[in-house]
Formats: sequence, C-alpha cells, structure tokens
Amino acid sequence: MRDFSYVRAGSRAEALDLGQADDAAFLAGGTELINWMRIGINAPARVIDLSRVEGLDAVEEIEGGVRIGALARLNDVAQNPLVAEGYPVLSQAILRAASAQIRNLATIGGNPVQRVRCPYFRANEGAPCNKREPGSGCAALNGIHDRHAIFGWTEDCVAVHPADPPVALAALDAVIVTDHPDGGRRIPVREFHVLPSQNPAWHDVLRAGELIVGIELPAPAPQSAYLKIRERESYEYATVSAAAALEIEGGVIRRARVALGSVAMRPWRLAAAEERLAGLAPDAPEVAEAIGAAFAEARPLAGTEWKVRLARNAARRVIELAAEA
Ligand SMILES: Cc1cc2nc3c(=O)[nH]c(=O)nc-3n(C[C@H](O)[C@H](O)[C@H](O)COP(=O)(O)OP(=O)(O)OC[C@H]3O[C@@H](n4cnc5c(N)ncnc54)[C@H](O)[C@@H]3O)c2cc1C
Ligand code: SF4
Repeated sequence: MRDFSYVRAGSRAEALDLGQADDAAFLAGGTELINWMRIGINAPARVIDLSRVEGLDAVEEIEGGVRIGALARLNDVAQNPLVAEGYPVLSQAILRAASAQIRNLATIGGNPVQRVRCPYFRANEGAPCNKREPGSGCAALNGIHDRHAIFGWTEDCVAVHPADPPVALAALDAVIVTDHPDGGRRIPVREFHVLPSQNPAWHDVLRAGELIVGIELPAPAPQSAYLKIRERESYEYATVSAAAALEIEGGVIRRARVALGSVAMRPWRLAAAEERLAGLAPDAPEVAEAIGAAFAEARPLAGTEWKVRLARNAARRVIELAAEA
C-alpha cells in the first residue's frame, strides 16, 4: 500500500479546497475506498475524510420532491418516512444492499461511485482489464463473464455496474447534485455511469475533486417497488435487479418507469417498454409483450444468455409489485 496523508475536512468549502490536490480521494463511509486501497485498485496520495462536514446528511422536502444529503447513511435514508412512504422503490433497494452493518456506515453519495465486481478488475494478478489498466484489453470477454452484461457492452468492457440504489434512482429520474471550484452540476442518475462505448476505462462522469453534495428526487412515487434476484437472500450483489415506478388511474397504467440493474454498466431503463405499458392494466397479458419490445436491443454474451430470461421476468414481476404497493 502506498503511503498517503489523511486529513479531516471541517466544512464543505474545506473539502472542496483539499480535493483539488493531485491524487486526492474523498472518504465518506469508507466501505469501498479502504478496500480499493488494500487491493491496489486505488492509491490516493491524500485521503480527505468527509465525516465531520456538516449540513450534508439531511433528508428534507424541497419544492416538488425530496433532497437527500450525500453523507446520509444508507440505513437512515431507507428508514426516513419521506423516503419509505414516498419512494418505496428506493427504500427497498437500499435495504437489499450489502449488510445492516455496512449500511450503517455507507453513504448514499458514495454508493453510486462504487466500482465493478468483475473478478479480473478486482484480482491483483495483472489480467488484461481496460478498467484497471486502460488499453490492456478485457479478460472477461472470452473468460469468466456469467455475471456480466446483456445490454450496452463493447469488446473493450463487458462489466455491469453492481449497485442497487442507483437502479431505483434511475427509475425515479433522480438527479445527482455536485459541487466543484469550477462549478457544480446537476447530473441525471441515468447519465452518471459511463458506458464502455463512451469510455471503457471510466466508471462515472465525476471530475477529479468534484464533490457529490446531494441527490434530488422528483415527485413522490408511492406505487413503486424494487426486486433483487441474487444467489442468497442477504449480503449478496444482484444477478439481476428491477425497479418500477407506476402512475395508475382507473386500474390502468398512465405512466411507467422501469429500470434494470446488473445488466449493463449503468442502470438500464426499458424506454421501449415504458411507451407500450401506458394504457395497459398492470396484470394484462400484453405487459409481457411490452417488456419484450425493450429486449430487442439485448445482446447477451455466450455466458450471459441465461440472464435475458431472468431480466425479462424480473421486469414483469416488479411491475406487479409496484401496482400492489
Ligand atoms: C461486502 C460488501 C457488500 C456490498 N454489497 C452491496 C450491495 O449488495 N449493493 C450495493 O448497492 N452496494 C453494495 N456494497 C457497496 C456499498 O454500498 C458501498 O461500499 C457504499 O455505498 C459506498 O459508500 P461509502 O460512503 O462507504 O463510500 P466510500 O468507500 O467512502 O467511497 C467510495 C467512493 O466514492 C467516493 N465518494 C464518496 N463520497 C463522495 C462524495 N460525497 N462526493 C464524491 N465522491 C465521493 C470516494 O472518493 C470513493 O471513490 C457492498 C460493499 C461491501 C463492502
Ligand atoms: S469486463 Fe471490464 S472490468 Fe472486467 S476485465 Fe473486462 S474491462 Fe476489466
């Protein structure tokens, strides 16, 4: 492990200032960053602890929605009544992530910044990996890739983003709010993660020293749900997950937003299905056809064909769950 300096920021302004040093990294809950430093994925020269920065951990109503401070702990977000009652899809996605102990430490701002779980990326054996060593190739393409992508991959990287909360946030059309000395941004969660066609080496669009200050949710979506399919019922990443937020009037879907997780390098919205779902009853047989339309662009790898059917069924089931909410 490389030597590094540790500094605790006392305020948001100080964090931003300290974050402009070369090779600096923000430390929030530390549940990911410390692991990366241990296995050599990341070797920052300066670690900036955000835990004493005040004013970034509230969950509060804003006009037309809710703002969640970036430093709010995952369990606090999931259990907040504004989230649990107004956005059950987010509350459920959080409570199915990691373990209770990790969720007590991990923050909602740090969660979307986590790295892929691809075994070649995480291994320390020098396997070709464009995310670990840009330009070195992709060992997973013809190697172990049964947990990898069915949408949006290229031969340069076939990994999926593993996080749960961003799938719910993408279905909700949430926005990540950042700050930076050169100007903050409002980044739709749907555009936060980087597809390999954009840049196979990158995970997300954050610039060096850019601080996530919060996540904004638009109008409440009480008829929403999250479904996580995994090999065991707790403390496991998703093989496939699905999030749905519905608006139902007179027993008919007026608007549907559906996203899949662990199928691509970003939460994958089923836009073609969403259009066709409007006007259908949530349990109508045509719902399966509508979902099928969005799978026209599915392109499984040799080892991920099994995920296509799983993902289609997950999308179908999460619509039923959201309608029952
Ligand atoms: C064993 C284990 C199992 C897990 N299982 C799941 C799971 O099933 N589902 C799931 O979704 N997640 C899972 N996780 C991931 C976990 O949720 C993340 O580790 C956590 O959310 C990251 O938050 P953190 O606050 O600890 O981030 P940190 O580890 O502190 O930071 C992670 C990254 O985010 C950056 N960062 C943090 N805060 C900010 C900010 N405000 N602005 C800019 N950059 C920032 C850091 O610089 C770093 O690059 C698991 C983690 C572990 C260790
Ligand atoms: S899938 Fe992506 S992360 Fe995995 S080896 Fe290939 S380039 Fe690396």
